[in-house]
Amino acid sequence: MANAEIIAIGSELLTPQRIDTNSLTITEQLNAIGVEVHRKQVIGDDRARLTEAIREALNRVDIVILSGGLGPTEDDVTRDAAAAALGRSLVHSLEQEAILQARFDRLRRKMAENNRRQTYLVEGAEAVPNGNGTAPGQFIQAGEKILILLPGPPRELKPMVINEIIPRLKPLLPKEVIKVRSFRITGMGESDLDALIAPIYSRYENPSTTVLAGVGDLWVHLRARCRTGAEADALLGEVGDPIAALLGDRVYTTDAEEPLEQVVGNLLRKHKATVATAESCTGGLIATRLTEYPGSSDFFLASFVTYSDAQKAKLLGVKGELLAQCGAVSESVAAAMAEGARSRSGATYALSTTGFSGPDGGTEQNPVGTVYIGLASEDSTKVIRLHFGSDRYRHRLLSTQFALDMLRRKLL
Ligand code: AMP
Ligand code: MG
Repeated sequence: MANAEIIAIGSELLTPQRIDTNSLTITEQLNAIGVEVHRKQVIGDDRARLTEAIREALNRVDIVILSGGLGPTEDDVTRDAAAAALGRSLVHSLEQEAILQARFDRLRRKMAENNRRQTYLVEGAEAVPNGNGTAPGQFIQAGEKILILLPGPPRELKPMVINEIIPRLKPLLPKEVIKVRSFRITGMGESDLDALIAPIYSRYENPSTTVLAGVGDLWVHLRARCRTGAEADALLGEVGDPIAALLGDRVYTTDAEEPLEQVVGNLLRKHKATVATAESCTGGLIATRLTEYPGSSDFFLASFVTYSDAQKAKLLGVKGELLAQCGAVSESVAAAMAEGARSRSGATYALSTTGFSGPDGGTEQNPVGTVYIGLASEDSTKVIRLHFGSDRYRHRLLSTQFALDMLRRKLL
């Protein structure tokens, strides 16, 4: 099994303004050919620190990939550091000089003297063509180890990884396949989820399991590494099937990239049903999520963002006495809002939200963080009461998540 480390080089990547994204591209492509990334780091444009980092990484793993610092200027130190780490020299390449010169001729530009730096290769390196820039990559074999140098700009690096690096690495690797099985879950907390499924997955190192948490949203990823796809599928079934059985309909999708609103939209489309929303505390966020994807006009009819009592009465027909008696944040008003949105839009279903998002507000019975979520359908109206604390951002997002999940469960 081959392992890799990635080093992103560039002092700008150590500031708050820039983030290393190249390592994500590289990792995705490495994983697809069965190479696991064990570590990645960001190093500024510093020759000594970089040399040390390359040397250490080569001691730990089979493949070390560097991105950045191949530019023509003094602060581009990757070539020098790579040569120093391997104890090799840099050699001028006439061929690279000709390629670079031709590139400048084509663009009718004069080649600056410092561009010549980019025509130096680490002794023994194979130059890797760069179709979108001046710096070639370098592919270096050193005994059992492989060191790869790539330019920093993502539009140069990405095609080089896909078209040049992966095809060079593949024949050098032991045969291996990585397969992933994912679950997305809502309606339970991360620790409850883990308590439920850890007894199953913790007995296995392969597949490895990761549990990730978003706001009201959980991911479980199982990754199997095997010699064949069939072996990987079998392992994923052995661990994944009992997890799927335990979680039941708390799993809203097995596609890691499919958000809840898309699942709900697809269910509505499948049932040829439509939806409207009556939103107070969520301010239209449920409607925003439901209309995020093209084709939402198939099922989405209207949103009534009714923040004030007067507009709840005017747009949704919520009775004044009800508002006065129960207060806007109440089970009865949530029900009346959903029913009003359903009848006024003609939708099959209507969702409503009314609550105290915080940080201030609330009453004795309904403290800040309380939300009522309503779902009106042909046969009934259901309201749930939840409490999410006083962080306004979380409160609003969690309210949309529970509302969408309520509709999803109704549609199952
Ligand atoms: P360099 O090859 O070091 O001259 O980098 C050129 C440019 O590529 C930088 O200014 C960044 O905008 C971008 N870049 C460099 N490294 C990365 C990285 N790891 N992820 C994303 N962008 C990068
Ligand atoms: Mg740089």
